[in-house]
Amino acid sequence: MNVVTVPRKIQEIMEVMEVNGHEICAVGGCVRDFLLGRPIHDWDLCTSACPDETQKVFEEAGCQTILTGKKHGTITVLWQGEAVEITTYRIDGEYTDGRRPDHVTFTGRLEDDLSRRDFTINAMACRRDGEVIDLFGGRRDLAEGCIRCVGDPRLRFEEDGLRILRGLRFAARLGFQLEEGTAQAVMEGRERLSLISPERIWAELAGLMAGPEAAPVMERFYPVVEAALRLDSTAGQREREWRCAARCLAAPVPDGWSQWMTVTARFAMTLWKGAFSGLSEPGKRAFDCCVALRTDKATRKRVAVLIEEAEKGLPLTPYQLRKLAGEMGWETVAQLIFLWEVTEAASPEEAEWMQNEAGEIVRRGDCISIGQLEIQGAHIQKLGARGPQIGETLKRLLDDVMKGELPNQRDRLEKRAGELLRESIGSK
Ligand code: ATP
Ligand code: MG
Repeated sequence: MNVVTVPRKIQEIMEVMEVNGHEICAVGGCVRDFLLGRPIHDWDLCTSACPDETQKVFEEAGCQTILTGKKHGTITVLWQGEAVEITTYRIDGEYTDGRRPDHVTFTGRLEDDLSRRDFTINAMACRRDGEVIDLFGGRRDLAEGCIRCVGDPRLRFEEDGLRILRGLRFAARLGFQLEEGTAQAVMEGRERLSLISPERIWAELAGLMAGPEAAPVMERFYPVVEAALRLDSTAGQREREWRCAARCLAAPVPDGWSQWMTVTARFAMTLWKGAFSGLSEPGKRAFDCCVALRTDKATRKRVAVLIEEAEKGLPLTPYQLRKLAGEMGWETVAQLIFLWEVTEAASPEEAEWMQNEAGEIVRRGDCISIGQLEIQGAHIQKLGARGPQIGETLKRLLDDVMKGELPNQRDRLEKRAGELLRESIGSK
């Protein structure tokens, strides 16, 4: 596991820099993921050349360049349709805001650039021929499944509090353990998360939730998550609840779920069973929590709805299940069944019944929405209904159909609509 296979296109880019006399390496996540045998998202490159030089080299080679973050040393090169970032080796200046260096200095030395990186497994580079440069024991830590800061963890987290959550995210994703000194510094430094922007916190938390090994991370580091959520620290009083949330996170999510489904379901579970368990209006609290984290609107809505619906009783008749699916959609229903099952709000038998019945409802094409009724608003209007009466009548018809009391057939629906309208006139 000492040689990285660098893709052809990336090698070509590296060669362009090298023939112009500049040193260039692939660095960070790509080296880590290659050595782990995991899929690689981006090949980030770093170079001894300063940004102006990098830009010049590629413009002379006839390539388009984009000044992505020239101040921080990053130039994006478009190479055969692919965008690749090339960043000048940097030394971070002093950190006074707990998040970003006050200034960065460019350097010609790779060692300096690697030593500012967060964890040993992220601080490896490789050359064009695939030779790995590992100055901090990254390979050893990969082999041991260990997340260890480069340098003194306390200082590194003081510089940038986001690293605290990054550490947890990598542990949850890779199933790694935090090295003991790093783990302690994570716990001790957690209040520094208050200096981090909510968007960055959410990005890392979502990554943690998506991780297959989120459960053991939550089990040990829930006070850090509490701090990240900016909840009043309750001095360990909610330990029991958080441990329960951690146990729930251990359940594998069903096959075929999107990452978003996983993240929203697991986050809802975490808030429902951990942060807000036993408190009033957990759905509303979850919504506010998501707003504070500046999540996107779909996420905050879904997380809140999942908790609100999960708090209500289980849909244990075909009618209740159809109604829930009509109101929420099947994706939400699937998440709810999962939530009920893993939190033991539903017994295994109940969960199985809901799964099977949901499958049957879909297979039979049962009517669960007004749009599926064999009658439309215009027909109801012809029968004499006006304004809101039309919608109300359709809703009543749908309810009767979902209950199984009325077949979804045009003539029967029309007859029933007539009765309902006469009833409503009679009652006025
Ligand atoms: P992912 O697969 O999640 O993208 P990654 O390792 O590529 O993982 P990025 O956030 O894309 O992570 O960062 C790229 C590299 O930059 C990291 O591997 C690490 O070396 C360095 N890095 C990123 N954020 C920090 C930070 N806050 N402090 C120190 N180094 C960092
Ligand atoms: Mg990356």
